[in-house]
Amino acid sequence: MKKKYLFVFVMLLVVTFAGMGLTSLYVQRTGGQEKEEKISIVTSFYPMYIAALNVVGDTDTVKLTNLSEPQTGCLHDFQLTPEDMKLLSTADVFVINGGGIEAFMEEVAASYPSLQIVEACEGIALLQEEDEENAHAWMSVADYEKQVENIAKGLAEADPAHEKQYQSNAKDYCGRLEDLKERQQAVFAAARGQNVILFHEAYAYVAEDYGLSVSYVMDLDEERQVSAGEVSEVLSAVKKDHVKYILAEKRYGKSMGDTIEKESDARVIYLDPLNRGDYEKDSYLDGMSENIRLLEQDFGA
Ligand SMILES: [Zn+2]
Repeated sequence: MKKKYLFVFVMLLVVTFAGMGLTSLYVQRTGGQEKEEKISIVTSFYPMYIAALNVVGDTDTVKLTNLSEPQTGCLHDFQLTPEDMKLLSTADVFVINGGGIEAFMEEVAASYPSLQIVEACEGIALLQEEDEENAHAWMSVADYEKQVENIAKGLAEADPAHEKQYQSNAKDYCGRLEDLKERQQAVFAAARGQNVILFHEAYAYVAEDYGLSVSYVMDLDEERQVSAGEVSEVLSAVKKDHVKYILAEKRYGKSMGDTIEKESDARVIYLDPLNRGDYEKDSYLDGMSENIRLLEQDFGA
């Protein structure tokens, strides 16, 4: 009898341990993925998405989503849709440019008081444009680098388990931005002090990077009518300040650019404001590299 009890006892132990082993295997196989909770990071618009994409890298516990579409451009007049609000309601972190470009932030803060906001422009001395902040800071490579660092810092605070990854990805990315800054130095040396006219507010940051002096700004950031008065203001600024170059965006500035080129000796350089494009990791690097190439070509750097 005793042997029988021992046998039953041993069998029970075997069954129990086997069961425990299988259970833990089951948890590892099926529960493992879900166990490491995903963090949902939402970015406001294109340049923030590209910066965050580089900071996140292949951290697979992150779900990165852009609020606007890749072709939306700046969010100056952007209205949040019910879907946008729904997306934000599931977000842990919201990465914004700041400086007022996301005009809907009051609404977001009121609706989701616990949503962590990472403001990429934090600590960046923004340029002023007629009493208003000009927040297109990503157009300066140096400022964009700070934005990348701010995003890495913000994500590390929100998700400390992956701090090392965020910081090392940001460091790699900033290393590549440093290569662009080196190329900028040659343009800076050739162009600094020259008078330019801007057909896009964002290009005030381009002027800053190259030490250009801005004679006149006409903001063609969207489709709009240009008055005859504005045309003559541009032409008189060209004449008065001996402006050789105008920086414009082809999408909204081409017809004005053609007019000015016809009426004066100024030349228009069409740059990419990098506020829309495809969701490729290197799109900022490629776009800014092309901008630098165009400036090198015209300023003879
Ligand atoms: Zn803009």
